[in-house]
Amino acid sequence: MPELPEVETIVRDLRPSLVGRTILRASLSHDDVLRGVSRRTLVSRLTGATIHEITRRAKHAVVRLDGRRLVVQPGMTGSLMVQDPPLAEREHRYAVLQAPLDDGRVLVYRDVRRLGTLLLLDEAGWARYDRDLGPEPLDPALSDEEFGRRLRRSRQAVKKLIMDQRLIVGVGNIYANEALFASGIDPSRAGALITPAEASVLLREIRRILLAAIEARGSTVRSYRTGTGEAGGFQVALDVYGRGGEPCVRCGTRLTETHLIDARTTVLCHRCQS
Ligand SMILES: [Zn+2]
Repeated sequence: MPELPEVETIVRDLRPSLVGRTILRASLSHDDVLRGVSRRTLVSRLTGATIHEITRRAKHAVVRLDGRRLVVQPGMTGSLMVQDPPLAEREHRYAVLQAPLDDGRVLVYRDVRRLGTLLLLDEAGWARYDRDLGPEPLDPALSDEEFGRRLRRSRQAVKKLIMDQRLIVGVGNIYANEALFASGIDPSRAGALITPAEASVLLREIRRILLAAIEARGSTVRSYRTGTGEAGGFQVALDVYGRGGEPCVRCGTRLTETHLIDARTTVLCHRCQS
C-alpha cells in the first residue's frame, strides 16, 4: 500500500486544491471501506463542511473539517484526487467516495479493490487514534537512542518491527527492504540484538530513503498515483525491492527473495547484510 512518501506526495498535491473549499455533498459507492462510521453519518457530516487543512500522519491523509477529521488510508489500489467533472468512465466506476466542492471540482477517493479505509473522527477520537501511532521517522525529535530502545524491546525480526506502526510509522514493505539493505542489516535479525550503532545507521537510512522517495514523488510498483494522477518516480531507484534473483548492486551476489520473515516479500543480499 502507499507508504509515507506516497501519501506525503498526495497530500502536498491536494493541499492547494482543497484548503478553504466547502464540500457540497458526498456520495459513497460502498460501505466496506468505512471504519467506525456509518454511510449515513459520513455523508451528513461531510455535506456543507469546510476543509481547513490536509496533512499526513503515518500512511494516512488527514482532512481537517469543522471539528472533525476525515482520515483516508489509501489501499494498494487506492488514490485520492481532485478532478474536474465529468469523471472518465474508469474513474467513475472505481470512485468509492465522491465529494463535489464549491469550486466545481470533485474530491474523489477511488479504489479498485477497496483495500483502503476511511474514518471520520471527532477531535477527541483523532487525539486517541494519533496517540496509538508511533513516532514519525522524519520528526527530528525522534532520537537514535529512542529508536534503538524501541527496537531492542522485542525479539521479533527487525524488518517486522520497522513496519509496525506502533513502533515507527510510515514504513511499509518497500522502504523496509530498502532501508535494511542500505544499512547492511539482515531483515531477520531480532530487534533485541540490534546495537545502538546499527539503530543509528538504520534510522539515518530510513530517513534518507524516505526523503529521496518524497523528492521523486513516491514509488509506483503497482497502481499508486500521485494527487495529480501521475506515476511516482522512485521505483527506478529501488535497490532490492522487486529485484529478487538479480545481482546485488553492491557486490553482484544474487539477491535472495523470501517470504519466511513476515509472510511479505523480503529481498536481501546475504553477503552485504548480516
Ligand atoms: Zn551484496
